[in-house]
Amino acid sequence: MDRRSFLKIGGTFFAIGVGCKFDSPAKESNFGITVDSNRNIGHLARNAVSQAISQNLTTDVLIVGGGIAGLAAASSLKGRAFLLCEMNPKLGGTSSAVNIGGTQFSQGAHYDLSYPGYYGKESLSLLERLDIIKWSGRNDRWDFVEKKYLIDSKNEQRCFSNGVFMESVLPNSELKQNMIDLLKPYIGKMLLPTTQIGVEMHWLDKLSFYAYLEKYLPITAEFIESIDYQMLDDFGGTSREISAMAGIHYYTCRPYFSKPEPELFSPPEGNYYFINKLARSLPKESIKTNYLVVATSKQSNHWLTDVWNVQEKRKIRIKSKNIIYAGQKHLLQYLYPKAYSQFKDVTYTPWIIVNIELNGEVITSNFWQNDYLSPNGQFLGFVNSKTQYSNGNRVLSAYYCYPSVYHYLVQEIETDPKKIVDETIGYLSTYYNQDLTKYVKHAYVKLLGHAMPIPAPGFLTKQRASLVDGMSFAGVDSGRLPLMFDAMDSGIQAANVLSET
Ligand SMILES: Cc1cc2nc3c(=O)[nH]c(=O)nc-3n(C[C@H](O)[C@H](O)[C@H](O)COP(=O)(O)OP(=O)(O)OC[C@H]3O[C@@H](n4cnc5c(N)ncnc54)[C@H](O)[C@@H]3O)c2cc1C
Repeated sequence: MDRRSFLKIGGTFFAIGVGCKFDSPAKESNFGITVDSNRNIGHLARNAVSQAISQNLTTDVLIVGGGIAGLAAASSLKGRAFLLCEMNPKLGGTSSAVNIGGTQFSQGAHYDLSYPGYYGKESLSLLERLDIIKWSGRNDRWDFVEKKYLIDSKNEQRCFSNGVFMESVLPNSELKQNMIDLLKPYIGKMLLPTTQIGVEMHWLDKLSFYAYLEKYLPITAEFIESIDYQMLDDFGGTSREISAMAGIHYYTCRPYFSKPEPELFSPPEGNYYFINKLARSLPKESIKTNYLVVATSKQSNHWLTDVWNVQEKRKIRIKSKNIIYAGQKHLLQYLYPKAYSQFKDVTYTPWIIVNIELNGEVITSNFWQNDYLSPNGQFLGFVNSKTQYSNGNRVLSAYYCYPSVYHYLVQEIETDPKKIVDETIGYLSTYYNQDLTKYVKHAYVKLLGHAMPIPAPGFLTKQRASLVDGMSFAGVDSGRLPLMFDAMDSGIQAANVLSET
């Protein structure tokens, strides 16, 4: 999350309260907790199978999933009629937001950076059409239109590493400089979308980032701890789990080494900003929320798809010529197993986001991103809303990333959310060196079970069919990096594939 500043000269250690751990302070607290989870979805889908059809609809293209990829696909259908089904009451997927006191706050992806001119033209022109970016000839890049959402580099980030405040996750050292020198030649070659990375770079997808670093640098455990934090933060896996291509991409996909620094764009609602812009550009009546796709079958020249209307508790059958599948691919094993086999290799990390709304002005330091390295490797820090939005209550958005085998834990948290909320308040109190419990107004917990596909070796360059029986595939779990730009391009390409048939 601190890509722009990983280069900064560190070495400055601030006075801290190493011993001021605030364990589970919320025991005597009296605030509400709201949990947003999809745990019931499997159960709903199973129940829906035996229900009668209450309505028949026909469209040209059915889109499954209302995240960035599904919406970008809808925007790229060039006039073809479509219905987009999103199972949640709100669009967004991993770029969603929660309403707190009348303002939307991010519950997932929360930023992007300005785009170099050499990035993929189709996503850039969609972003331009949506009036999100404009070309800056002076900076030779695409900058954001709404400057009020740019984060000033002086408030950008602070790192709390095992009880010590530091300027950067990767402390300055000869080793860091050597890594920068090693990776510099990749600038301009690590593109977005990742499908445009040249084949001469594909060998980097055959080994882990750890193996790559170990081959060329005298790495230390401390150095790898910092690298792992950054890889978990953006890709959900450690340097041993992700490919060298993903790791190198992180440090070189923009010209971070030159001035001016890329713009850092982070509205309070995070990347839900992009979701809103996309949704508003589409016909309202074609977007269906609370529509859970539960079954689909291919007939001779069309698809029949059953959808459970979660709100109205009734089943709808949709006839369509094509399907763009922009939902999580592991669900294809139930929906259309024939298409699932090519996604079997994808593993997902669960993420949990805890938004803590505070009453009153108790915090004086305002940094956007607050990295947090501790023996609990799951807690990755938090975003402070006061750097994005000065009105209303302060919201601290805390992020947890769990290993992929911990999917069950996400379910346990739904039944006992107080534990993770208490834990979060403990971390925040330790960071700010004061017990924040009595200032907490409300906590919002977002559980994302299959949130982020890990870009393991082989994931980015594996050849997958773009079309199976008239179904095309979008989403970052179709072999992309978990980044807004790649999600958007995957949707555009899934729509393009259909227009070629
Ligand atoms: C915690 C977190 C933080 C992140 N931060 C950033 C960031 O700061 N910047 C960045 O660029 N990227 C970030 N990412 C990556 C982010 O995932 C992508 O940028 C992008 O939002 C992925 O979009 P997508 O459409 O591919 O998938 P998703 O967002 O997962 O969308 C899939 C959608 O399909 C729906 N769906 C699935 N099955 C069905 C069904 N059967 N019926 C109906 N609907 C269904 C889901 O509900 C969901 O809405 C982050 C990811 C996570 C998890």
